[in-house]
Amino acid sequence: MGLLTSALALYAVAGMMWLALAAIVAVRKLDRFDWKYHKGDIWVVLALGAALWPILLFAKPRALVQPGQLFNFEGRAAQRARDFYQFVHNPPPCAARIIYEPDDKISFGRFVFDASELIPVLEDRLRGSESAYDDEYLMLVEWLANKDDSILEPTKVPSVIQNFHWIADEAIRQGLGAIECRVCGKAVNNSALVTQDDSGRRGWNYRTLSCPAGHSLLSFRAMHILTRDRLEIEPQTTSSRAG
Ligand SMILES: [Zn+2]
Repeated sequence: MGLLTSALALYAVAGMMWLALAAIVAVRKLDRFDWKYHKGDIWVVLALGAALWPILLFAKPRALVQPGQLFNFEGRAAQRARDFYQFVHNPPPCAARIIYEPDDKISFGRFVFDASELIPVLEDRLRGSESAYDDEYLMLVEWLANKDDSILEPTKVPSVIQNFHWIADEAIRQGLGAIECRVCGKAVNNSALVTQDDSGRRGWNYRTLSCPAGHSLLSFRAMHILTRDRLEIEPQTTSSRAG
């Protein structure tokens, strides 16, 4: 009996020691974004780790001495929020011109826009129906409006802006921007672009702009249709324009 009590006490003390270490790591290493988006996960790790620490011995022995390993949460909400915060509070410089090269393996265009010509496109977009991307577009308008004309090299679209393809597509269809095909290695006149937009297809429907040689310059999933009755639109309908 005495042995069992001692063993239990030892178990509890070890759990408490681990909890103390893990709590220090959580407070020091995790930032406000982790705490905002993963608070529940953090408490679960602390509680389960302290109560069931022998499992760690077998499953993740290093986490016994480095509990920080257990705080790498799946999902990107905290990272995304962190990137947004950094972009807003410490924006990279924006030149008078913006260069956009989609890196999605299906689009081979290179597009250069004047920062100022994109602002009305974004404002139009923001005036339309609400979209999940509005926060991004608001940040983008602000960033473009604060451009620095003395920077001659065009600025790449910042990586925090992940839905620029809608804006590029809209701007190009309005006749804006300088376009180049990275496959042909040649400039493409806006009027020579070939438009191919899926419509009413079951599954993913793409919007595509191609060069005259048939290389896709900008192609992205615009709409998902589950069945004939149910329509899922992402992120919102776009008015179709001729040419
Ligand atoms: Zn081409």
